[in-house]
Amino acid sequence: MMVNHHVAHHPLIVLGGGLTGLSAAYHHPGAIVYERESVPIGHGKSHVVNQFIFDEGIHVVHTTDPEVLALYEDLGVRFSVRQRKAWIQSHGARTRYPFQANTYGLPVSIVKDCLVGFVQNDFRDRTAIANYEDWLHCIFGKGIAEHFMIPYAQKFWGVHPRELMTDWVDVRHPRPSLEEVVEGALHDQTKGFGVNAEFRYPVRGGFGAIGQAFVVKVGDRLRTGMEVTALDVHAKTVTFNGRETVPYDRIVSTIPLPDIVRCIADAPPEVRAAAARLHTNSFFVVNVALNRPEETDAHWIYYLEREFPFVRLSFLANFGDDVVPAGTSAIQAEVAYHRDTNPLAGSREDVVRSVLECLKALRFIRSDREVLFTNTLDIPYAYIVHDRDRAPSVRVIHDFLHAHDIYPCGRYGDWGYLWSHDAILRGRNMAQALVRGELPHGASVSDTRTGCGCVGEFMA
Ligand SMILES: Cc1cc2nc3c(=O)[nH]c(=O)nc-3n(C[C@H](O)[C@H](O)[C@H](O)COP(=O)(O)OP(=O)(O)OC[C@H]3O[C@@H](n4cnc5c(N)ncnc54)[C@H](O)[C@@H]3O)c2cc1C
Repeated sequence: MMVNHHVAHHPLIVLGGGLTGLSAAYHHPGAIVYERESVPIGHGKSHVVNQFIFDEGIHVVHTTDPEVLALYEDLGVRFSVRQRKAWIQSHGARTRYPFQANTYGLPVSIVKDCLVGFVQNDFRDRTAIANYEDWLHCIFGKGIAEHFMIPYAQKFWGVHPRELMTDWVDVRHPRPSLEEVVEGALHDQTKGFGVNAEFRYPVRGGFGAIGQAFVVKVGDRLRTGMEVTALDVHAKTVTFNGRETVPYDRIVSTIPLPDIVRCIADAPPEVRAAAARLHTNSFFVVNVALNRPEETDAHWIYYLEREFPFVRLSFLANFGDDVVPAGTSAIQAEVAYHRDTNPLAGSREDVVRSVLECLKALRFIRSDREVLFTNTLDIPYAYIVHDRDRAPSVRVIHDFLHAHDIYPCGRYGDWGYLWSHDAILRGRNMAQALVRGELPHGASVSDTRTGCGCVGEFMA
């Protein structure tokens, strides 16, 4: 009875209307979602510009989890299924993704190093793996690690793989058999590897169609234009836009951990210090709309060397049928950076210019006359850096927040490399635990059955 009384007077407050927050509200009828932006859905949204649909970097559905697919069906999202066509540009050649299974076409000396390293791998003791660099050597051998994996990781993460842990790798790096490695060195091997060899993409509306379906279901329980600016964990109130203060009983927070800690004026010094040790990389996304139909059937291409300003190019017309207007096409370039360790090469205008120059050099654009328009998107919090500090720092912050009935979850609440389906499940699990009364006030979430408490556990 007590719980009902609380729910009636203080609906569950969900901070952030991305996929995690929307999923939490969908699964908790008493939840109100407060979202900073006027348009919700966070990184899962699609932006429509002049009838072109741009996602926030490449976004595809690659889960085969029946629970998630059933949820998408309940939401009414329809998908087309695509066979991934992905390539890697490196060492002057374009080879099929993933690198480790497809060295055919690379300079012979590189192919040889990759094969010899895979076979004569003297790093076999998995218990000796201390970091991501070790892991790459152990799983793929010296040649593949040093010719591709390590330099690509540095370009992507902005830090050397020896700084990274291995609690995020798992399915993200398919390990081919020796036979497949040899086959892929001798021939153009078309076999698909990895979790997204086949992927789903919404038939209409871009990737954002998933979030949009949640938005419809959550209805007027979603409040946009509401930025959390202060949290008083003693009075148990949250303030939006510096003026509107509401009481809370429980909060599910999906906003980035460093931001929520910043909103708590009297957060203990050790919690602030922990927040300062959390890192992500950032993405600067350059979209280029073209006035001619798509000429490649590739979905995306990875770029290894630094002379290419981007880590990936994607060809949007190949994702969904309504992503570009008839007779046109669009390219999206994802530039990875980090404010301190891997800064952008120049101003944002400089980066757009160098992306266009590079697209011309690669013959994806033949002349300026083909370009209808460009637009850009900055993603300061992109991929969580799983370095040594991450797990202990997240634990300190989570313990503090849990003690005040604030339950962080999602990509930036759990602070982990979560895909969209992981985020949706995190929101669902947290909501269901609250609905079922499984979270006593002040409980550490790892003591419960929410499945949300264990740092790094999302890999399961
Ligand atoms: C470049 C890129 C590519 C990706 N590709 C894929 C892919 O191919 N497949 C896949 O499954 N997943 C992919 N993902 C992951 C996927 O986007 C995320 O897992 C998912 O969108 C995370 O949702 P979330 O709700 O946890 O976080 P978010 O989407 O960040 O949502 C958090 C929300 O909180 C709001 N907010 C922030 N601060 C405040 C505040 N102070 N007050 C109120 N609201 C606030 C934000 O505006 C946002 O709407 C990709 C992510 C990125 C960045």
